[in-house]
Parts: sequence; C-alpha cells; structure tokens
Amino acid sequence: MSRGRREFLKLGAAAVGAAATSRASDAAGQEPPGSARITNWAGNYTYGVDRVHEAASVDEVRELVASRSRLNALGTRHCFNGIADSSHLLVSLREMAGVVALDAKKRTVTVEAGASYGQLCPPLHERGFALHNLASLPHISVAGACATATHGSGVSNANLAAAATDLELVTAAGDVLRLSLDEDGDEFQGAVVHLGALGVLTKVTLEVQPTYLMRQHVYLDLPEAALRDHFEEIVSAGYSVSLFTDWEGDSVEEVWIKSRVDAGADTRAEPDFFGARLAERDVHPIAELSAEHCTEQMGVVGPWYERLPHFRMGFTPSSGDELQSEFFVPRSEAVEAVAAIGRLGEQIHPHLLISELRTVAADQLWMSTAYGRDSLAIHFTWKPDWPSVRKVLPLIERELGPFGVRPHWGKLFTMQPQVLRSRYERLDDFRALARRLDPGGKFRNPFLDSAIFA
Ligand SMILES: Cc1cc2nc3c(=O)[nH]c(=O)nc-3n(C[C@H](O)[C@H](O)[C@H](O)COP(=O)(O)OP(=O)(O)OC[C@H]3O[C@@H](n4cnc5c(N)ncnc54)[C@H](O)[C@@H]3O)c2cc1C
Repeated sequence: MSRGRREFLKLGAAAVGAAATSRASDAAGQEPPGSARITNWAGNYTYGVDRVHEAASVDEVRELVASRSRLNALGTRHCFNGIADSSHLLVSLREMAGVVALDAKKRTVTVEAGASYGQLCPPLHERGFALHNLASLPHISVAGACATATHGSGVSNANLAAAATDLELVTAAGDVLRLSLDEDGDEFQGAVVHLGALGVLTKVTLEVQPTYLMRQHVYLDLPEAALRDHFEEIVSAGYSVSLFTDWEGDSVEEVWIKSRVDAGADTRAEPDFFGARLAERDVHPIAELSAEHCTEQMGVVGPWYERLPHFRMGFTPSSGDELQSEFFVPRSEAVEAVAAIGRLGEQIHPHLLISELRTVAADQLWMSTAYGRDSLAIHFTWKPDWPSVRKVLPLIERELGPFGVRPHWGKLFTMQPQVLRSRYERLDDFRALARRLDPGGKFRNPFLDSAIFA
C-alpha cells in the first residue's frame, strides 16, 4: 500500500474534511463549501438549483415538461460530474419506483424509472427472476444507470443498459414516447444510453432470467506477471471478476471472483490462483477498511443481488468522500493498456484510494462505452482532492489515447470534447435523435452542450 493512502486512511474524517474545504469553484461546477444547494452523492458537485421537484406520476411529469423551457431529470445523484445538472429545474422520479409488470413468459420486468436496483432486485428474486448483472452498489436508479452505461463485470456480461427492451419517456413537448427493441431496432439502441438528453424516462422494461445463486471468493496478491501472462484466463475465471490494485509494487492486491452455483454448493476454493492466495476472511476493496459493508464472501452461497455488487444495500457504500474516474479500452488490448497505466504508478498512487479492473461485453447501444467492442474498464477511486486529480487525468487519458479510450459518462475526465466525440461513431445519429425529440434544447445543460452538442 502506498504511504499516501495509508496516511489518508489514518487521518480519516479529518483528511476528508481538509480536502473538502480546499475545493474551489471551477468549470467542472465545483463550488466552495457553505452553499445550501444540493450536491451529488460524493459532495464534489453542487447542482445549479436549490430544490428538486419530486414527480409522482407520468401525467405530472408531462405537465411539468410541457410547461418549462429548461429542465433535467435527476436520479440518485451518483454521478461525479455535471451530466445531471440544471440551472433551471431538476425533477426526480424517486417516488415513481414501483414494479409495474413482470412478464414471466416474455421474461421481462417493467419498472418505473426512479426505482433503484436495491428496490427492484429483492422482489424480482422472490418471484423467481434475476437480472444478468449489477454495478458495485445497488443504490443507483435504473434510469441513471441506463443514462451513463453503468456496468458491472464479466467477459460475457454487457452493461446494465443492455438489458433494456422497452423505454417510456416524456419528450420535450410533454408527449409520451414508447420505444422498443423489437419495433424500433436501431433507434431504440440509440435511445437506451440517453445521457439525460432525450427526455424524462418514466418506465424501463428489462430482460430477466430465472433467478440464480452465487458465491464469491477473494484472492490476495496476484503477481503482476501472472496478470500479464494469463489475463484472459484470470478475467474469465468467474461469471464476474474484479481486480483491485493501487499500481504500486509487483502485485494486484485483490481478485474478486463471483461465480454462479447451485444450491448447496461447496464453499471451499483452491488455495492458490495464479500465484495469489485465498483470503481467509471477508475483505474490503481497500484492504485496510472493514469489510462489514461488503457483500458476503468466503464462498457463502446467496442470491445474485447479494453477491454481484461489492457493497450491501443496507450499508453506507464505499469509503465515503471520494472522486471516481473510469476509462474503457478494447479488451483485446487490455494487457498493453494496463502496462501503460502501470508506468504512471508514481503519479497516480499519491492521489488514489484504489483502482478496479473489470470487463464489459460489447453492445450495440450508440452511446455506450462498450459500443462495438468487448472492453476492459480501468477504474480509479481518488481521494477527494480535485486539483490534484485534475492534473493526473490528462496523463491517463494521454497514455490510453492510442487504445481509443472512452471515459465513463458519469465520472470525472478532462478529455477535450472533440477527442471524446471522435470515439463514438454513432454520435451524429444520437445528436439527430436528440434534436428530433428535443428541438429547443430543453434537456441540455453545460455538460451536454460541451460533450455532445458543441
Ligand atoms: C459509490 C459509487 C459506485 C459506483 N459504481 C459504479 C459501477 O460499479 N459501475 C458503473 O458503471 N458506475 C458506477 N458508478 C457510477 C454511477 O452508477 C453512474 O454514474 C449512474 O449514472 C448513477 O445513476 P444515478 O441514478 O445516480 O444518476 P444521476 O447521477 O442522478 O444522473 C445520471 C444521468 O441520468 C439522467 N437521469 C436520471 N434519471 C433520469 C430520468 N428519469 N429520465 C431521464 N434522465 C435521467 C440524469 O439526467 C443524468 O444524465 C458509481 C458511483 C458511485 C457514487
């Protein structure tokens, strides 16, 4: 572990507070403390309004949208940048979070778009069904996850948005538009990863499958050489595999292997995994932190929604005040991309809490970070020190440039808009779709103006 990280964790809340008070207002929308305004989950971004309108029905959303010149929808506030921001009006569908229909024959579930995965998954499991994958925590909304192509891990698992088969949204005129994969094909695939730019999503239908059980084992200290020489075998060793590293030393600190199993499956695992040793107790992704908030490990069998995320629904997720960035490169070039980041280790780890490597299967969703290519996602959980992180991000983006890197839409990046736009071959189609559904730019905000429409 880096000395910087150890000191940060030792200082705990004091360090977090000091970092928070050093934040300055800047173009990324960060404001000095003391503002009474509403912030995102991490507290690093202050929205441009001081109240959120809670809508309770589709009709209310329609009236609101029709009567306003500008507004944006807000999910569970888990993005780290201004993608959800508005300086006019924010509307939340938090009260619209019910399961509308479960079609056992078609194997789909329809939910109101404000539902979080934490609200959706337990009743879905009770009725015998499951989703194909989940993110690291279940607290995020389905609409917000679709918006930014939120993903979990697994070489055969596409991101969460890829499960969508039907969407219902209120477009700029206040009309209800229904799109489906079956009937609207290509255009539907353009609308799923919507970046909040197409309207207010009110319902989403997701593909489901018969419910399943899982177990997870963690291995410690995977030799870097093993990752280089056996990358594909390692990331394919389970249904969902995550690797945690701080880019220091010559090993990857933790390998989390989540496997689908039958009821009554053995909790035991091989003691060795490509030179890594089996953990003998539950661990947190940041090894020094208590694992009490983490989903159960040690091979204990449980339902899919209690094993796929790293953090439990009922507990405070992750390590608290933090920043996040994530970058996607083709999985076929994963080893070279990891080596490129490894060369930046000294610049990265003073500011890092932990990095995670995950795989995401290719999809056909126009604005997806995994559009058209099986991907490796290289994630960074940073200390909450934006001035320092902002200096490191361009180095990472430069190193990953030759791999055609795409940044996570909901996390922090500094990539120039023209570079960003060059990474999405269906961007012009997405812009045309957005202009058709929202000709007056009602759902635009500075993030979208810069990243998509400039
Ligand atoms: C601790 C933590 C862990 C995370 N782990 C992961 C992870 O494992 N994998 C991953 O990929 N990402 C992860 N993220 C990022 C996060 O999942 C995404 O950024 C996601 O978009 C957040 O969803 P949200 O509901 O909070 O959306 P918000 O941040 O509230 O909004 C995001 C976007 O969705 C739009 N939106 C929300 N609701 C609607 C609606 N009803 N209609 C139209 N537009 C809407 C907003 O306008 C905005 O454009 C994590 C974030 C945190 C804080």
